[in-house]
Amino acid sequence: MAVADRLGPVTEAMPGASEAYIDLDAGTTHDEVTGLASSGLFLYELERALDLAARTGSHVAAIALEVHRIEPMLDTLPDDGAARLLIEIADRLRRVVRPSDVVARQTRGRFSLMLQDLDAIDGAMAVADRITQEFERPVDIDGEQVHLEFNMGVTLCGPRATASQLVSEADTALDRAIRAAPGKVEIFDDEMRAWMRNRRGVEHGLHDALDLGHLRLHYQPIIDVAQSELVAFEALLRWERPGIGLVGPDTFLDVAEESGLILPVGRWVLYEACRQLAEWSRARPGAAKVAVNISARQLLHPGFFDALKGAVRTTGAPARGLMLEVTEAVLLDHLSLVLPTLHRIRELGVGMVLDDFGTGYSSLTCLRQLPLTCVKVDEGFVHDLPEEATTTSMVELVAAVAKALDIKVVAEAVERPSELRALEYLGCDWAQGYLISEPVPPERATAMFDHFEFSKPQGDLEVAFPTERLDRAEVAVPATTRDNPVVEV
Ligand code: C2E
Ligand code: MG
Ligand code: MG
Repeated sequence: MAVADRLGPVTEAMPGASEAYIDLDAGTTHDEVTGLASSGLFLYELERALDLAARTGSHVAAIALEVHRIEPMLDTLPDDGAARLLIEIADRLRRVVRPSDVVARQTRGRFSLMLQDLDAIDGAMAVADRITQEFERPVDIDGEQVHLEFNMGVTLCGPRATASQLVSEADTALDRAIRAAPGKVEIFDDEMRAWMRNRRGVEHGLHDALDLGHLRLHYQPIIDVAQSELVAFEALLRWERPGIGLVGPDTFLDVAEESGLILPVGRWVLYEACRQLAEWSRARPGAAKVAVNISARQLLHPGFFDALKGAVRTTGAPARGLMLEVTEAVLLDHLSLVLPTLHRIRELGVGMVLDDFGTGYSSLTCLRQLPLTCVKVDEGFVHDLPEEATTTSMVELVAAVAKALDIKVVAEAVERPSELRALEYLGCDWAQGYLISEPVPPERATAMFDHFEFSKPQGDLEVAFPTERLDRAEVAVPATTRDNPVVEV
């Protein structure tokens, strides 16, 4: 069937639609594969339906639907099988709605439905039920039975609702449904509304914080475990929120990531950390390095490397004094995309730290592939030391591999004296955590250059290992000389 023939439900629904289309870019009004409305057209139609509903006193609902694991499914289907599967999904969705409703394709596996002329949410839930029934039957692609699993988020327009608001509400409900269980359908409710309002507040506030200079960097000292000497600081972002006080990144980083604000925020962090490093280095050359956390979106941005080079050059910071921390998940999810950037960063002389190591799925091979200077063992492992036998062996293994690769091992969130002593015993180079110091404002960090006092904890220590020690030959790293399962330090 030609694409034009597939447009029936949409174009039929729109008297005078041709004029309406004039404002929309011709290439983006419909999805080429399925003929479903595009996201732009969907928003436009939703706005019109909301206008009408406001005049007639009826309601409009939006349903967001996501098919699970569509990417691998489409990739493994033969020849035009992927297109036929998408067309079948589109046909089944069209089948359950009225001609005046609109079905759109947002991304590869995400679809939206707009339902008009409803009295209450029940009408939308009836459609959601019909969709579920439609997809109980697998899709036949050349004899292969493709079973589809999906989630839905449903919302009904409130007074003064706008199209983009309704789309966000349906998306929020869909995200909840996805987190709950496959097949789950969630209705947008008051709790989700409060959550969205808070997010909007954070987004606007963060925008203002950038303009008004309310962002701060605090610095957490990192010590050399064997010498108890200050070797570096990790720069950690704080926000001086008017009326609230200083808040940590956990309260705003996800909003910054999703809204794209992480790009200007990240540029500010990079510049400010470089400026501080330059200032410290002028007074005491080589005194300490500064580590800066970099988010996925920043690292993937095509302008990232130039921004980094610009920050180093403009501030006069020594590139060798700067380290960038990137989490395991970011590197693994986008390895081929970011690898060239990582190599350029290293060529500049800037260090690379693999943060939160152990929380993702990276193999030890990954440590070898990446141009790293440090690997930072996640707090989850640190807190299990020294009592948890398996963790103890794992940290020892990471330290041995890092040594073989000539990269440093840093432990984060060290809180107890026994953790630090176990880390030293296991061959960990550097450590940071509340035991040594909490993150401090820049002036207190500066004072630490003149006066940094940290005494290594003393006393007996038992480091547990599993009864069966890991066979070092299997991981092909040099054997260490430490063989005693229990040591007195
Ligand atoms: P991270 O990079 O793993 O940073 C370590 C976190 O552990 C920091 O939390 C730090 O304050 C906290 N911490 C330090 N010592 C201890 C300890 O002894 N025990 C425990 N339980 N925690 C400790 P914070 O500052 O809230 O930062 C949280 C995360 O936010 C960071 O995790 C990092 O991923 C991210 N982040 C912080 N600053 C930035 C930034 O400038 N840009 C980006 N993209 N992310 C940042
Ligand atoms: Mg970090
Ligand atoms: Mg970390």
